[in-house]
Amino acid sequence: MDYIDPHIHMVSRITDDYETLARMGCVAVSEPAFWAGFDRGSVDGFRDYFRQLTEVEPRRAATYGIQLYCWLCINAKEAENVSLSRDVIAMIPEFLDHPNVLGIGEIGLNKNTRNESIIFLEHLELAIKYNQSILIHTPHLEDKFQGTQMTLDMLCDDSRINRSRVLVDHVEEHTIGAVLDRGFWAGMTLYPVSKCTPERAADMVEIYGAERLMANSAGDWGPSKPTAVPDLIFELRRRGHNESLIRKLVYDNPIEFFSQSDNFRFQPRNVDHTVDHTVEAPKALPS
Ligand SMILES: [Zn+2]
Repeated sequence: MDYIDPHIHMVSRITDDYETLARMGCVAVSEPAFWAGFDRGSVDGFRDYFRQLTEVEPRRAATYGIQLYCWLCINAKEAENVSLSRDVIAMIPEFLDHPNVLGIGEIGLNKNTRNESIIFLEHLELAIKYNQSILIHTPHLEDKFQGTQMTLDMLCDDSRINRSRVLVDHVEEHTIGAVLDRGFWAGMTLYPVSKCTPERAADMVEIYGAERLMANSAGDWGPSKPTAVPDLIFELRRRGHNESLIRKLVYDNPIEFFSQSDNFRFQPRNVDHTVDHTVEAPKALPS
């Protein structure tokens, strides 16, 4: 089955992973800007990173027939440096017209601090000013519930935010309901053992259905598995769910959400309708 991974950090993956993704049916990915494993020292460090996301990584993906889109921001970990964050936010518009940029992300909270909130709100201003979709990171483990509530409150307090253009990732059982109830898209970020596993994601699909719901693999620096979305596909099949529900979750929904971004020009896999497959009537056998 063709599928799209809407949140995977390919800059942290080796080229063999692209080949594996392609063989598993991945036709497109979207890559949010995130932490590089270390704090960057200057706005130029981010400018180079955004060139990697907009120029280098799409070419690496295209080698394997995968379309790569991206999202730009300064992540929550580095948002503690407020002055650097403001410089990065001021520089982002240089890249917003690039043909693979879908919007602002992954922004959000990490430890739910005051500085993270300040920079989150300034990213929202940027998204509103430039009419961009938004991809949101929610905190992990003990910070998740409170951080998700804080994030949703900040979004809902601003009537200019179009909730259908906001994707809230890393949802789990105790946060998915609030995200969907308030009209946002929700993303289940799958990890092989910790956090949300494919089995727990399948449970959430069974409880909430597939409307405004997606699944992604994160594929980041930590323990993660770039083929986690196919793992979820296999788990849903094992439970007897029909193909149209699975396809909606892993293919139709990402296309619907991304299509709200002007730069999303997805080309479905080429299906050749010109070949005539009708079987000719057998001619009389030679006598
Ligand atoms: Zn991420």
